Amino acid sequence: MSFRNFKMVSYVVYGRGSFNQLDEILAPQRKAGAPMIFLVDHFFEGKALPNRVPLRGNDSIIFVDVSFEPKTKQVDALAQQLKDSFGTISGVIGIGGGSTMDLAKAVALMMTNPGSSADYQGWDLVKNPGVYKAGIPTLSGTGAEVSRTTVLTGPTRKLGMNSDFTPFDQIVLDPELTRDAPVNQRFYTGMDCYIHCIESLEGTFLNEFSKSYGEKALQLCQKVFVEKNGWDDACDDQLMMASYAGGMSIAYSQVGVAHAVSYGLSYLLGTKHGIGNCIVMDHLEEYYPAGVKEFKYMVAKNNIDIPKGISKGLTDEQFDIMINVSMGMKPLWENALGKDWEKIMTREKLRSLYEKL
Ligand code: NAD
Ligand code: ZN
Repeated sequence: MSFRNFKMVSYVVYGRGSFNQLDEILAPQRKAGAPMIFLVDHFFEGKALPNRVPLRGNDSIIFVDVSFEPKTKQVDALAQQLKDSFGTISGVIGIGGGSTMDLAKAVALMMTNPGSSADYQGWDLVKNPGVYKAGIPTLSGTGAEVSRTTVLTGPTRKLGMNSDFTPFDQIVLDPELTRDAPVNQRFYTGMDCYIHCIESLEGTFLNEFSKSYGEKALQLCQKVFVEKNGWDDACDDQLMMASYAGGMSIAYSQVGVAHAVSYGLSYLLGTKHGIGNCIVMDHLEEYYPAGVKEFKYMVAKNNIDIPKGISKGLTDEQFDIMINVSMGMKPLWENALGKDWEKIMTREKLRSLYEKL
C-alpha cells in the first residue's frame, strides 16, 4: 500500500479585502526586469477590479477569454507570447473562475517546460517547476485553487496536467470578489463543489482525511443553497470555504459518476464543467439517491434552469466518442463503483444514461 503524499498550496490568505494585500504579497517574488503577468477573466474588462491590480514596472494585465474552457493551444499561445515579449517573467497571477485559474497554472508551467502543454496531459509528466504562480478565485466551487491539476482540452483528450508542480504557490481567498457573479453561474459552479462532496463521501476511496473536509464543505453548501433564503455576504464567505474544503476532500479521494459522464459531454459538445455536472447529476438517482434528491431541491429552491435534451439528435458515432472519453476516466469509476466497475457500468448502460441527458 502506498499512501498519496500530496503537494499543497504554499500560502493562503483569506478574508474580505485581502485582495488589497496583493502588492505586499508579490513584492518578495519579483525578479529584476521580469514582470508579473496578471491573467484576468475577460468578465472584468472595463470593470473596477483591474484598476486594483498592483502593477509595477513592466507588469501586464492580459484579459483571457474563457467563453470556452481552456485548451492546450490557448496555453501554448499565451506562454509563447510571454516568452516573445519578456523573455522571462517573475510569475503568473490568475484572477477569475476555475478556467482562468487553470490557465494561470498551465501557463506558469509552460514558461519552463519544453514543447506543448498537450505533452503533459496526464499524471506526473511535468518535468520542471514552473514560474511563481498565484490564484485568486472570483467564483467559488471548482476547488481549482487548491488542486494539483489544471484541466485542459487538447488535440486528443480532455485531461489535466496533474503534477506536484501544478498547485499554486499562493492563493488569495477574498469573498468580496465573488459578490457580483450571476445567479445561475454561481449556482452551477457552487454545485461543482456540492457534487465533489457527494462523489467523495459516497466513494470507495473515502478515508477520514477526505471525509472531514467533504463533510464540512457539504455542510457549507447546504447552508448556502438549502437553508438560506436569498443571498448575502455570509453566503460568499461560506461558499468560498466550501470550495476550498471540497478541493481538499478530493485531493485525498476522487470524484465520481457525475464528473466521469460530464467529461464526455464537455469533450464532444463543449458543455461547461459546472453546468455539465448539473445536467448529469439530475439523472443519477441510482448512484447517489440522497444527494440527487437534495440537488433537485436546491435547483427548485434557487429557481435554476438545468438544460434538458442536450443529447437529442446525436449520432451513434457521437455517443461512442462520449462513451470512450467517459470510460477512460478509470479512477473516477473505480472510486464510484469499486474495483469491478466495468461489470456495473457497461457501454450500453452508459449509452442509455447519455440518451437521457
Ligand atoms: P469559469 O471560470 O469557466 O467561468 C464561467 C463564467 O463566469 C465565465 O463567463 C466567466 O467570465 C464568468 N465569471 C467569472 N467570475 C465572475 C464573476 N465574479 N462575476 C461574473 N462572472 C464571472 O467557471 P468555473 O465554474 O469557476 O470554472 C470551470 C472551469 O474550471 C472548467 O474549465 C473546469 O475544467 C475547471 N475545473 C478545474 C478544476 C481543477 O482542479 N483544476 C476543478 C474543477 C473545475
Ligand atoms: Zn468538478
